[in-house]
Amino acid sequence: MKVETLIAGGGLAGLSCARELHQASRPYLLVEKEKDPGGLCRTLLDRGFTFDYTGHFLHFQKPSLEEWVRPFLGNRFKRRTRHAAVYSRGTYSEYPYQENNAGLPPAVVRENVLGYLEAALKRRFLGVDPARAPDFKSWCLQSFGAGLSRNFMFPYNEKLWKTPLTRLTTHWMGRFVPSPRISEVLRGAFSRQNSAAGYNSTFLYPDEGGISVLPRSIARNLPNLWMGVGLQTLDLSRKRAVLTSGLEIRYNRLVSSLPLPGLAGRTRGLPGGLGRAAGKLKATSIYNINFGIRGPQPVPFSWVYFPEKEFRFHRAGSVSACVPTVAPKGHASLYVEFSYRGNRPDPGALGRHALQKLAELGWIQNERQVVSRVDLDLPNAYVLYDEGRDAIVSALLGYFEKNGVDSVGRYGRWEYGSMESAMEQGITAARKIIAGIR
Ligand SMILES: Cc1cc2nc3c(=O)[nH]c(=O)nc-3n(C[C@H](O)[C@H](O)[C@H](O)COP(=O)(O)OP(=O)(O)OC[C@H]3O[C@@H](n4cnc5c(N)ncnc54)[C@H](O)[C@@H]3O)c2cc1C
Repeated sequence: MKVETLIAGGGLAGLSCARELHQASRPYLLVEKEKDPGGLCRTLLDRGFTFDYTGHFLHFQKPSLEEWVRPFLGNRFKRRTRHAAVYSRGTYSEYPYQENNAGLPPAVVRENVLGYLEAALKRRFLGVDPARAPDFKSWCLQSFGAGLSRNFMFPYNEKLWKTPLTRLTTHWMGRFVPSPRISEVLRGAFSRQNSAAGYNSTFLYPDEGGISVLPRSIARNLPNLWMGVGLQTLDLSRKRAVLTSGLEIRYNRLVSSLPLPGLAGRTRGLPGGLGRAAGKLKATSIYNINFGIRGPQPVPFSWVYFPEKEFRFHRAGSVSACVPTVAPKGHASLYVEFSYRGNRPDPGALGRHALQKLAELGWIQNERQVVSRVDLDLPNAYVLYDEGRDAIVSALLGYFEKNGVDSVGRYGRWEYGSMESAMEQGITAARKIIAGIR
C-alpha cells in the first residue's frame, strides 16, 4: 500500500497534523497503536466519575493556536480558575510558594525571605546571573535563595525527578517556574493573597467528557484513522514502514509522534552511535491513582504540591473542585500522582499510602467513602533534561529530518511540552508538507 503522508501516533500532535492535512485536501494515513485516539489526553469513565490521565487542563500562550483550536472546543469548554497550593509544615500556601509564605512558621518565613533578598542582592550587585547557572540546583539558589530552595524547590523537584538536581539542566523550565519580584515575595510573606502567578492560572475544560473531548473533536469525521495498529519497523532509505498488523506501507513523508527512543528503536539501519545515544535518553514515569468518593467536595484545590518526604506522592488534587460535573451529585473526585524511575512501584502499597495520607489531611474521612478507584500508569511522563539530553535529541531529530521524518509532539521532541505545543507541532508539520517544504 502507498500513502502520501504516514502519520504515526494519534495523540494531539498526530491528530492535529491529520486535521490540517485534511483541511487542505491532502491525503494521509494515521496509525495509532491504542484503540482510542488522544494519547495522554484520553479519559476514563467509571461509576459516573470522569478521570483523565491525571489533571489535564487546557491553556493557551498563542492566540493563533487558540483560534485554530476554537472550532473544536465549541461551547463545551468553559474557562475555569485554578486553585493551586503547596502543603508543607502542616499548612497550605497558595501557589506559587515563593510568593505566598504567610501562614508558615515564622522561622521558615524568615529563612525564605532573607534568602530571597540575599539572592536578589547578589544578582543586582555581584552580577550573578541564573541564566548562566551550570545546573538546576544552582539556578534555584541563584533565583530563589537558600531558604525557598531548601524548603520547597529542592525537596519537591528531587521527589518529582528522582535525580540529583545537579544533574539537571535549566533548559526545561521557561514558563513553568514563576520568578517573583522582591515586592511580591515581601507582600506574600506578611499577608495571604490569592495569587494568579504562573503560566496556568486559568484554563479551559469541558463540563462533560473530560479532556478527551478535545482529541475526539479534532478526530471527528476524519478519514483514514487506523486505531489499534502500531508502527512496527521503519526503513528510511526505502521509505517503507511495517505495521503491527504486518502490512507494509510505502510513504512519501512520515510524521511521527512516537517517543523518540521508540522511533529510533524501530528504525532499521540507524547508525550505531545514534542508537546507543537514544538509549541514554531518560524520563520519570507517573503512577496516577484516581478516587471517586461519596460526600461533599472536601477541598477547594485543583492541585496541591507536596514537597515533604512523609508524602510519597508529589502532587494530589481534585478536578471536581473546579469542574463539579466530573463526579456524580453528592460525590467528589481526587487524584494522586507518584513519580518513579525504573520498575513500577507496587500499586497496592501506593494506594494504601495515598488513602492514609488523604485521611490524615482530612480530604477523606474514611476509606468506605471511596466508591471508585482507577489506576493509570504514565510511563516516561516527564522527560529528563540531564547533561546529555540536548545533544542527543538534536542529533536524532537532525538525522530523522534528513531522512524525511518529522518527529513531533511531547515525546517525539523529547521535551517538556503542553497540549498546545503538541497541537502546534502537528499543525506545523502538516503545513510544511502542504507548502512542499519537505
Ligand atoms: C502528568 C502529565 C500532566 C499533564 N498535564 C497537562 C496539562 O494540564 N495541560 C497541558 O497543556 N498539557 C499537559 N500535559 C502534556 C500533554 O499531555 C502533552 O503535551 C500532549 O498530550 C502530548 O501529545 P502528543 O500527541 O505529543 O503525545 P501523546 O499523547 O503521547 O501521543 C502519542 C501517541 O502515539 C501513540 N504511539 C506510541 N507508539 C506507537 C506506535 N509504535 N505506533 C503507533 N502509535 C504509537 C501513543 O499510543 C499515543 O497515542 C501533561 C502531561 C503529563 C505527563
